[in-house]
Amino acid sequence: MRTCPYCGQQALTALRKAKLGPTRLVRCQSCGKRVSVSPGAVLAVVPFLIGIGAVWYFRASPLGIGALVVGLLAMFVVHEYAVPLVRRDA
Ligand SMILES: [Zn+2]
Repeated sequence: MRTCPYCGQQALTALRKAKLGPTRLVRCQSCGKRVSVSPGAVLAVVPFLIGIGAVWYFRASPLGIGALVVGLLAMFVVHEYAVPLVRRDA
C-alpha cells in the first residue's frame, strides 16, 4: 500500500510511510507529486492504544508488555497494508 495515486509506482519507503500521518505530505519518489495518507490512518494507532491499556491493566507484567509489543506491531502492519496513499493537490 505504498503505491502512488498519480503514477502507480512506489511512492515512498515503508519507514517513511510509517512516519506519515494525514496532516503530513511527502513527495512521491517516482513522480514528485504530493501524497499523504487518508484521515482513516489515525485508526491504525488503536491497537497500540489497546497495548498501552493492557500495560496499565496488567501493571507492566510480561503479559502487559507482550500486549504492548503486539499492539505496536499491529499498528505498523495496519498502517502498511490497510492505509492507502491519497492525492494532495494544493
Ligand atoms: Zn508518483
